[in-house]
Amino acid sequence: ADKMNLVIQKIRSFPDFPSKGILFRDVCPILKDPKALTAVIDLFEEHVRQTYTQVDLIVGIDARGFLFGPLLAQRLGIGLALIRKKGKLPGPTVSVAYSLEYGKAEAEMQVDAVEPGQKVLLIDDLLATGGTLYAACELLRKRQAEVLGCLVLVQLTDLDGAQRLKPVSVFSLTEY
Ligand code: IMP
Repeated sequence: ADKMNLVIQKIRSFPDFPSKGILFRDVCPILKDPKALTAVIDLFEEHVRQTYTQVDLIVGIDARGFLFGPLLAQRLGIGLALIRKKGKLPGPTVSVAYSLEYGKAEAEMQVDAVEPGQKVLLIDDLLATGGTLYAACELLRKRQAEVLGCLVLVQLTDLDGAQRLKPVSVFSLTEY
């Protein structure tokens, strides 16, 4: 509970960003506070160790999944793969198009980022509608990886992202 409070205190809210009517949750202050950042990784590590007997790979989602994913992977003694916005990764890739609140996006992963049959956990800063993590799950399924679950710091429960991701489970440190 102490660790959780340390984390929650460092999440800020900005009304009308990036557009009117959106309340943007900002996790950047966590990065300025080593105790809060350690607490985030501690809480994720505890959850993973309690929940799964084997995890082979952490998959970080562009871009704020890249901030927390490597720290967790290192704690667990496993590797990290990246899922990026299209056009950033060299070599053979797989990609999937998905729709955002306004417009479309495409997520991409290097073909050799994950081996068939590997058990993976996805990580991002925040779950909203679930569109981003759903697309990431599709990419991993294309490469025959087994998605064990998704980890996020923040879950916006009104948007039903966890419902969309089912049967893949979602673990969040805090909910709004
Ligand atoms: P979704 O695809 O609708 O679930 O949106 C989640 C993606 O958008 C994640 O990659 C988040 O980083 C980003 N995102 C959406 N809303 C917020 C927010 O309030 N704060 C920070 N990131 C957000």
